[in-house]
Amino acid sequence: MKKILGIVTSILMVMMLAACGSNKNELVMATNAEFPPYEYHEGDAIVGIDVEICKAIAEEMGKTLVIEDMQFDSVITSVQTGKADLGAAGLTVTEDRLKNINFSESYATAAQVIIVPTGSDIASPDDLEGKRIGVQLGTTGDIYAEDIADATIERYNKGFEAVQALLQGKIDAVIIDNEPAKVYVEQNPDTLIIVDEAFTYEEYAIAISKENTQLLDDVNAAIKKLKESGKLDEIVNKYISADN
Ligand code: GLN
Repeated sequence: MKKILGIVTSILMVMMLAACGSNKNELVMATNAEFPPYEYHEGDAIVGIDVEICKAIAEEMGKTLVIEDMQFDSVITSVQTGKADLGAAGLTVTEDRLKNINFSESYATAAQVIIVPTGSDIASPDDLEGKRIGVQLGTTGDIYAEDIADATIERYNKGFEAVQALLQGKIDAVIIDNEPAKVYVEQNPDTLIIVDEAFTYEEYAIAISKENTQLLDDVNAAIKKLKESGKLDEIVNKYISADN
């Protein structure tokens, strides 16, 4: 009987590990690969700054990176529930998010910017009052847009879809992170522009479960190394040219 119990327990443990998606040699990264140049699809692969940073962190830790692509608003929950070890999705550090998860040291500064059609009367964040504003669901752009007086907020699953709605005249502006904004405006150089004055300034960091303080220490140590060795700059420069 003892033997059977032992076998059942080991089977259960293997199943639990499998359910977590994370065995000892893997580092599972939750992301939403709709956010160029931080994470996006290139053919069958998911590439970008966050992907390369997490690969380098995994390497430092002697682990293999496994990427789980999901909706943006599932990234933090999947870290919280242990389905993923890391959340890396151009995630902005906010007080509210810190109630649910820990954040690593920051690895990038960012801004929420406003994209408008050329010729728009929106020239600064103050001009957003009363306008129809497109955002990506659950992002800081979404959260901060709620404070704009009399604005109508349209929420999309992908930043790209918000930009499409803007091109079709369904909304007046999109609030989105600065680097994806540059990518989308470059694709439509005659019709879209980024308003000079940013909406907010932010810091990106990696989300880690509050339970996993060892991982937080390991990730912070790896980020420190990547900063000191110049590897972090190298990764960023590969995707973002200095002159734009
Ligand atoms: N930086 C924004 C946030 O954390 C958007 C991130 C994203 O769309 N991937 O909410």
